[in-house]
Amino acid sequence: MQNNILVINCGSSSVKFSLINPTTNHVLISGLVEQLHSAHATISIKQEANKQQSHLPAPYDHLMAIKFFVEVLDDKQLTSTIYAIGHRVVHGGETYNKPVLISIAVKHEIHRLSTLAPLHNPANLLGIEAAEKALGQLPQVAVFDTSFHQSMPKKAFLYALPYELYKNHGIRKYGFHGTSHYYVAHKAAQYLNKPIETCNLISAHLGNGCSVTAIKNGKSVDTSLGLTPLEGLMMGTRTGNLDPSIIFHLVDQLGYTLDQVNTLLNKESGLKGISMLSNDCRTLEEAAEQGHDLAKLALDMFCYRAAKMIASFSVCFSQLDSIVFTGGIGENSSFIRENIIEQLTLLNISINNNANIEARFGKSGNIATSTSIPCWVIPTDEEGVIATQTHQLVAKEVK
Ligand code: ADP
Repeated sequence: MQNNILVINCGSSSVKFSLINPTTNHVLISGLVEQLHSAHATISIKQEANKQQSHLPAPYDHLMAIKFFVEVLDDKQLTSTIYAIGHRVVHGGETYNKPVLISIAVKHEIHRLSTLAPLHNPANLLGIEAAEKALGQLPQVAVFDTSFHQSMPKKAFLYALPYELYKNHGIRKYGFHGTSHYYVAHKAAQYLNKPIETCNLISAHLGNGCSVTAIKNGKSVDTSLGLTPLEGLMMGTRTGNLDPSIIFHLVDQLGYTLDQVNTLLNKESGLKGISMLSNDCRTLEEAAEQGHDLAKLALDMFCYRAAKMIASFSVCFSQLDSIVFTGGIGENSSFIRENIIEQLTLLNISINNNANIEARFGKSGNIATSTSIPCWVIPTDEEGVIATQTHQLVAKEVK
């Protein structure tokens, strides 16, 4: 029976796949192809408890990766169960505030928006075209990382630049991780036992990329990522906020090229840049415990900046229902959560240490004390949202 959704998430050098039953959200099989275009491409496949990893014999591109995964599905007689494909697309600009059925016009628009996301949208388009080739005429849906933040008011999304740069060139804050913030907000509403339309939340997605979103009455009203995923919090390798004049200083005084500055800010900064050790939070926690001063400093800066962003978003509310932690770090690091929450006492937030240790490795939980504003840890499920939204749109629009 054709009742599953194939979710595809194409990065510039990787493709993630999941075959999901949208009614139960059960993942039947998932796969990850990494290091595309290199001689070291690998594919890992996970089906229930079975995991397999293999090297791919030659450099793979997106089309080859998708064809390979379809062959795996063929072998397991699962291809015929797919009835639609959902794609994660990073940038939907101001055009898309919800998922859309992919047509030629939509592909042109995703291409046009590549100027705002030059690393991501072209890869997403390659994925869409490869899926068309590999899976014929199945309906395809684009779910955008930016859509959830389209509800932000102008005072939040504009930069204090000349207005015509927004009007004529679309320079504004768009925000990312929207699917994740949307998911955890809806889950939090369930846990709080309140309709989402009445929930005031601050969600912190802390992974390699990090963002905080203010969610008022269930809608995003501000978020920390900006025109690109570089603004805001300190991240694994990205700087987050900094004085823009540093760029002129690097170029004019220190002789950097703009390409070098781009690499510095996106790939060599953040936790990795400060620790001079790693962008991986686990590695840094272990090193800090063994007395590595720069690892400790990197983690302290990470937490201080996250707490400062969360506190700054309190201006969006007269009452707050919960703070929510998600993403690889937010879901798993009790150390980071404790450090952040300790800096939020003025907001009437305090931590329950036992609950904080409990809520890890896929377990949800409220990690605040009974007198505090609740702090929920909620594992995110972007693929699940893409499957559900694809299913809903196709059921409505494809007769
Ligand atoms: P991405 O943004 O690439 O999707 P993830 O959301 O998977 O990244 O988050 C990756 C981060 O989560 C890494 O810094 C990793 O060290 C961190 N992380 C995962 N598990 C733990 C853990 N048990 N303790 C601390 N950090 C963790």
